[in-house]
Amino acid sequence: MTYPWQQTQWQQIKQLIKAGRLPHAMLLLGNRGLGKTDFASSLANAVLCQQPTADSQACGLCKSCRLLAAGTHPDLYHIAPTAPPDSKSKNPVKSIRINDIRELCDKLSQTSQYGGYRVAILEQAEQLTVSAANSLLKTLEEPGNNTLLLLVSARPHRLPVTIRSRCQQLRFSQPEAKVSLEWLQQNSQTQSTADQLQQALRHTHGSPLAALAFLREIEHHQLLSAAMTAGISAKNSLDYAEQLSKFPKIRTLEAMQSRVTDVCKLLACGVEADIINEPERVKLQALANRVNEQRLFRFYDELNFNLLNSSISVNEQLLWENLLISWDNL
Ligand SMILES: [Zn+2]
Repeated sequence: MTYPWQQTQWQQIKQLIKAGRLPHAMLLLGNRGLGKTDFASSLANAVLCQQPTADSQACGLCKSCRLLAAGTHPDLYHIAPTAPPDSKSKNPVKSIRINDIRELCDKLSQTSQYGGYRVAILEQAEQLTVSAANSLLKTLEEPGNNTLLLLVSARPHRLPVTIRSRCQQLRFSQPEAKVSLEWLQQNSQTQSTADQLQQALRHTHGSPLAALAFLREIEHHQLLSAAMTAGISAKNSLDYAEQLSKFPKIRTLEAMQSRVTDVCKLLACGVEADIINEPERVKLQALANRVNEQRLFRFYDELNFNLLNSSISVNEQLLWENLLISWDNL
């Protein structure tokens, strides 16, 4: 499936397919929530379909398409980061490990079952471990005929440059606000008001699928909102730390970061500031009025440090307690 905001990219792909110049490896990059993995699946389906349409899309009817729909096409491999098999952590660090890549490269070196392409989709490719990335390099250098590797990443800078340089890049950017809002109105199943939809888009920098996920995770965001405004309302924010540790760490860090950005904007522009967390404006303004700028920037650095090292397992309750104490003492 391709989304309304991916038509330029699909035109590019169509021209490459028609000219017989489809590269053997592509890196689909752009922010989270733009539907890059769905695009990769559409592309995989299109090259595996036995009777593609004039628009170079999969027909949906041939034998290949039926196998693709059932998730059993033998020439399509889908790899995503997984938790270590022996992990006991509630939120384990997921990665793509060397054994996954060795197995994949082995399969890609064999003849395709249906005589056409063999396609691999690597979701969150930046989660390749160093040894897995090294193992993938050889296949990227000598991929064999009719092989298509699709690496998908919202954090491509984390991929080794040797991997990036061997892939043709296909960039996805945020759609126009109107396009995102229309799509969200049609696709959100919750009874969200227009304000809530706008709020979800603001939080996710205009990425429609991330905004949809935001609406589904509303309980998490409400909890974080309560935790981060508790101190301003003279309540105890630490009571929320345990509950926060049940949610994905990166989402919580990003949502915390959005509030720091808001306080910076309120400091710089006052009431005119266009902020992300609009419903918390009064409380964030109260914080901006009394905040120590040095401590605020230090807190921002602390969040960045944790985001950069988010793949390292930590005691999350302790992490949220520490960060909430720092936040309350800005
Ligand atoms: Zn087909």
